[in-house]
Amino acid sequence: MAKKKFKINNPGYCPLCGTDDLQYGTATPDGEDLYYPWTCNDKKCKASGKEYYHLDFCSHLSVHDKNDNFVPSESEEDLVNEKDEN
Ligand SMILES: [Zn+2]
Repeated sequence: MAKKKFKINNPGYCPLCGTDDLQYGTATPDGEDLYYPWTCNDKKCKASGKEYYHLDFCSHLSVHDKNDNFVPSESEEDLVNEKDEN
């Protein structure tokens, strides 16, 4: 029996049969990365695997001090200022 090979290696598609009919499980952190376990819903294929994503730091958001005062980040400050102007 010939070994199976990846047809495609794209997010949202089964690497073996190419369908986008995947059943995803819960996102799970794995070190610096995060993966979604998946099972292929194609009746003949039924492959399974993990779809990995790199995590990139964006920003601290929704920060509150000990008195529960909102301390906006740079990007959130823009939103606060826009509200004040209106
Ligand atoms: Zn498949």
